[in-house]
Amino acid sequence: MSTATQIAVDLATVSPVAGTKPPAYPLASRQSRAGASTVQVGSIEFGGPEVVVMAGPCTVESRRQLLEAAQGVCSLGAVVLRGGAFKPRTSPYDFRGLAEEGLRHLAEARTLTGLLVITEVMSEKDVELVANYADILQIGSRSMSAFRLLEEVARTGKPVMLKRGFMATVKEWLLAAEYILAQGNERVILCERGIRSFDSDFTRNTLDLNAVAVAKMETHLPVIVDPSHGTGRADLVAPLAKAAIAVGADGLLIEVHPDPSTALCDGKQSLDLPRFAALMSELRPFIAATGRRLAMPRG
Ligand code: PEP
Ligand code: MN
Repeated sequence: MSTATQIAVDLATVSPVAGTKPPAYPLASRQSRAGASTVQVGSIEFGGPEVVVMAGPCTVESRRQLLEAAQGVCSLGAVVLRGGAFKPRTSPYDFRGLAEEGLRHLAEARTLTGLLVITEVMSEKDVELVANYADILQIGSRSMSAFRLLEEVARTGKPVMLKRGFMATVKEWLLAAEYILAQGNERVILCERGIRSFDSDFTRNTLDLNAVAVAKMETHLPVIVDPSHGTGRADLVAPLAKAAIAVGADGLLIEVHPDPSTALCDGKQSLDLPRFAALMSELRPFIAATGRRLAMPRG
């Protein structure tokens, strides 16, 4: 059966709750699946009883910077290493990442630490290259509505973490997830990273925790929260990380840099390693209070 035929069959078998309209996103909807779905990546499971912490620098700047960050976050309990090799920057004159060299550093960090690797793919042209290195493909906020890119990443069969566009409604975000699911790739993880709002005096974005609770209720997909981009401030990462756990987030994406003052991108919102250590120990009781546990590295 072709993928398209399979999807048509799947859509036909989605049984809406009596008296309610079928949702616009039938494959993502809770109406299509009784329980929560989990996404398995190596030995780590997203959407299950464990809360997954992903951490690392905004951008891979050098081998040394990345390995220092990777070893640090690994020893403190992160299980996935983040780091951009292809960076979406507002200005074309800003540092836009090391491209394949950055991917090679991520792969080396994975070998040395055992961490899984998540990194962004911005262009359809780079999907194959990035998929050769990454364990999870990240779709950035600015690319959420790049529908051909969504289809291309879906076709790799790799897990995809879909960040919410900073100007996107929750429904648009869920429909973007539907683009990936409709290609037959069920390994979709949602990520709330803050939206643009009217008040930028104190925060870069407004972390929309409503959206996290709504996404958990409306869909069966795992939902991650990124309090680093969501606030734009290192001192707000810990309180919003705790709040994210309280509303049911399945994991966190945290920017950590060995020396945030020298970061080429997003230094203001990046934690140094001592601050990340403090966050991890503060998080444990919050996670336990929700009846969950922190995902642990497995050898
Ligand atoms: C990132 O996480 O590296 C990033 C660029 O974030 P966003 O797409 O949410 O701006
Ligand atoms: Mn960043």
